[in-house]
Amino acid sequence: MGSSTDKFSATMRDGLANLARRLRFAMEEGSIWLDEQRMILLHTAALGALRKELVDTLGMERARGLFTRMGFHSGMRDAELAKRLRPGHSDFGLLEVGPCLHTIEGVVRVTPVRVNIDIAAGIYDGEFLWEDSFEGDVHRQIFGQVDEPACWMQIGYATGYTSALMGRTILYREVECIACGHSHCRIIGKPMEEWEDGAAELALYQPDPVIETILELQSEVEHLRALQRSEPQPADLVGASAGFRAAWGLLERAASSNVTVLLLGETGVGKERFAQALHGISTRADKPFVAVNCAAIPDELIESELFGVEKGAFTGAHQARAGRFERANGGTLFLDELGELSASAQSKLLRVLQEGEVERVGATEARKVDVRLVAATNVDLAEAVQRGTFRKDLYYRLNVYPVTIPPLRERPDDIRPLAERFLARYGARHGKKVLGITDRALADLRHYQWPGNVRELENVIERGVILAANGGQISAEHLCLPRSTALPMDTAPRLEPGGRVPTLREAAVHGLLDHMAEQQLALGDVENVLMEAAMQRANGNMSQAARLLGITRPQLAYRWKNRHVRAGEVS
Ligand SMILES: [Zn+2]
Repeated sequence: MGSSTDKFSATMRDGLANLARRLRFAMEEGSIWLDEQRMILLHTAALGALRKELVDTLGMERARGLFTRMGFHSGMRDAELAKRLRPGHSDFGLLEVGPCLHTIEGVVRVTPVRVNIDIAAGIYDGEFLWEDSFEGDVHRQIFGQVDEPACWMQIGYATGYTSALMGRTILYREVECIACGHSHCRIIGKPMEEWEDGAAELALYQPDPVIETILELQSEVEHLRALQRSEPQPADLVGASAGFRAAWGLLERAASSNVTVLLLGETGVGKERFAQALHGISTRADKPFVAVNCAAIPDELIESELFGVEKGAFTGAHQARAGRFERANGGTLFLDELGELSASAQSKLLRVLQEGEVERVGATEARKVDVRLVAATNVDLAEAVQRGTFRKDLYYRLNVYPVTIPPLRERPDDIRPLAERFLARYGARHGKKVLGITDRALADLRHYQWPGNVRELENVIERGVILAANGGQISAEHLCLPRSTALPMDTAPRLEPGGRVPTLREAAVHGLLDHMAEQQLALGDVENVLMEAAMQRANGNMSQAARLLGITRPQLAYRWKNRHVRAGEVS
């Protein structure tokens, strides 16, 4: 096996160096990133204490299952990373990322002994040496020398990584382990079917039924409690922030009355959803909910649409037709973009609100209607009254119970639950299994200003679902957020959302100035260094490098072409 292993080891050394560059310590943000995954530094002693507690409370086998599955998830994530970082690489090249990452992550030093891999043909046979396994070491410290191998999490990792890569279940087993007194650990991996009792081993990777039962019971209790609290969180309304709860709380209090509600807020905050939810918890819930966007209906048709029309009232009115008010009878009528109503429609609307009757266009008699009106607008109605484009008496009639829905940027805590809701919706709609959103992408979502509010978030997530790989996650680049508002990847200077010039990491800047002075570097040299670093990080992909630098591709291409000339001038 000598030569292939030597070759493997040699490329692994390069792999280690390359991958280590993906590890970034964003110290001032309090975060560590491995590419787009957020990582943490954890004391092995803390993991040891957790291990002991789990073994004590759940027993050895269940604890083993938990750690195995935990490792399995890490392995799957790293396989995702490998596929992303090395598209088009050989099977060999893809596989070696796993041992490299396991080594970089400080888990164990991996040396391949034998590797035979052919992803397309489904062939896999691998043997690796593990030296200085942290897990075996921790286990031995807690339990002394044991009979069974104990590197559970690491075995789970190898299994998760290789299975995700191969697209079939590759099980690993430890045949030697330092926890058993061997000088190192040794693992062997092959397809599940080729292990004698592979199917039994698979049980380790299934969630523990006892735990599931407990969780199920727990959620049932939660559910029952929620019912008792009688707080109907409407299914289509998602939010956890204080701003969201305040707005929803106001609507809840309005639910039992027939008061006209005026919903205020920027475009896209979800006014119709709130209106619908209000309808859903009101006594009118089993009657119709009718929504009308006043801005979407031409002026000449708005009256017949809202109030109905009698036969022959005007050319084209071939038969009598009920308007939206009549169709919403007994229920709720939601009038969106109410500020767009014509003067004549405004006066008819006022009459409905005052008398509770509508008059169809061309009718001589009024009809009684019982409708709860929910109106919404994103224009300043008070100002429209001042300008004389909106009736003052109608404004007072509507402004009895105003509820303002805060813009999304003021309630970042709602972003995650909303994004998850949309992810589920669009995953189903596009028939795609998307596993989630990377931590980095979530951080970007939280930092973005969302001028288009919830609707924009919905669009961004739908696009992300379409762009993400099947079985993968939505990463920052799938979001296509405008660059200036996305979170920077590391210590690069950044523009704050809203264009404010940031308080730079002063130490970093002064360090850079000192360095420039020492090395007699000019600004152009620094620019060259930055461009080269960006090109390197982008693997020579100029568009990607330009994005990193916050300039366009043509801008970068121009500067890149001229970089040596300028370097010559300044020296
Ligand atoms: Zn071991």
